[in-house]
Amino acid sequence: MTQIACKSLIVQKFGGTSVGTIERIQAVAERVIEAKEEGKQLVVVVSAMSGETNRLLGLAQQIDAVPAERELDVLMSAGEQVSMALLAMMLNKMGHAAVSLTGWQAGIKTDSQYNDANIIHVDPSHIQQLLERDQIVIVAGFQGITDEGDITTLGRGGSDTTAVALAGALNADECQIFTDVDGVYTCDPRLVPQARRLDVVHFDDMTSMARNGAKVLQLQSVEYARQHGVPLRVLSSFEEGEGTLVSFESSAASDVVGIALKNQQTLLDVDMPVSELQEQLNLFGMQCWCKAVAADLTQIVTANEDLARLKLVLDKKMHQVAAVSTLSVVGNNVQNKVDHVCAVLAEAGVLVRQKKRSAHCLSLLINEDDHQLAVDVVHKRFVVEPESLDNRPLLAVS
Ligand code: ADP
Ligand code: ASP
Ligand code: MG
Repeated sequence: MTQIACKSLIVQKFGGTSVGTIERIQAVAERVIEAKEEGKQLVVVVSAMSGETNRLLGLAQQIDAVPAERELDVLMSAGEQVSMALLAMMLNKMGHAAVSLTGWQAGIKTDSQYNDANIIHVDPSHIQQLLERDQIVIVAGFQGITDEGDITTLGRGGSDTTAVALAGALNADECQIFTDVDGVYTCDPRLVPQARRLDVVHFDDMTSMARNGAKVLQLQSVEYARQHGVPLRVLSSFEEGEGTLVSFESSAASDVVGIALKNQQTLLDVDMPVSELQEQLNLFGMQCWCKAVAADLTQIVTANEDLARLKLVLDKKMHQVAAVSTLSVVGNNVQNKVDHVCAVLAEAGVLVRQKKRSAHCLSLLINEDDHQLAVDVVHKRFVVEPESLDNRPLLAVS
């Protein structure tokens, strides 16, 4: 796609906390104006004000624990439309021409997987016309439209993916994700204050971090940026700085790049053979970590937010075992560190219930009550003090 002018074009995305109050929206407007005054063309993607999507979801769940998917998307997409209009008003008030667009006005077409839709096509022509008229274009994140004209949402955290997809379609010079931390860290800095900000993170590592709970970027946004070669940077909307560039450069000197944690999950016993259970889950478009325990007993791990839906599918066949978390060690050759990581956890008294290895990632299922202790000891031993590690050959794991 040709770029519409020789001016540089930037897509900026501001998350929920960054647009959480009118004062914050003013601060965002000031940052947008600063970039505009440097001569850039700007497309700005916004999330709903913080807490708003959960509030809307809560209203729906007062009516039905598993609300009708189509209507849920109509409801949840409303949050972003509030922020986009407020930011456009603020920019206009501050003397800069801005216009807000919904996802469908911005040309974002998705499949019809309600609540978790995938972007299949972006037609950027409307945005391009507005940019040619020197407008700042504000776009509602997290939403799109199907070929049948139904509203969809892109899964929690989906505004990141809106921004990356628009940046790809517009051939933008950079997609900047502004959030409430100043980049991607070796672990969630709210959990581990010793976590370090990474200047650069490799797409492979960022993909594993995002897949395993590092919600600083939605997984699909990382995958999309990688596939379409979109330059992607994570920055703070609260302070100045270079943030973290997601790229094909190596992330870190040591093997372990970071630790990710996924909380709010449940371990369940299901009275069903693993193959039959997987078939059932596929039928309902659900994905879970499954492990055969006996011929007709399977253990699965599910996100708590999916429990109500799962109950509709499995009913009396499912029995809750424990509240669990997944701790993932991300980086090169981390699969080989399984014994070391388990030994460090055992030393700290943390029970490892299951282990899973994949490219660039080693994931361990632990009790949710142990998550803070586990993440502290593993981050300390493998990220802060990697040189103290013993590199004995390791045994295979299940
Ligand atoms: P936004 O509302 O801007 O989209 P999110 O809450 O979705 O922001 O993502 C930012 C949050 O991601 C941070 O506040 C931080 O707690 C969390 N996070 C988790 N893992 C990481 C990580 N490795 N690096 C940085 N932040 C992380
Ligand atoms: N508002 C949506 C959410 O809370 C999308 C986003 O913030 O990216 O998940
Ligand atoms: Mg987010």
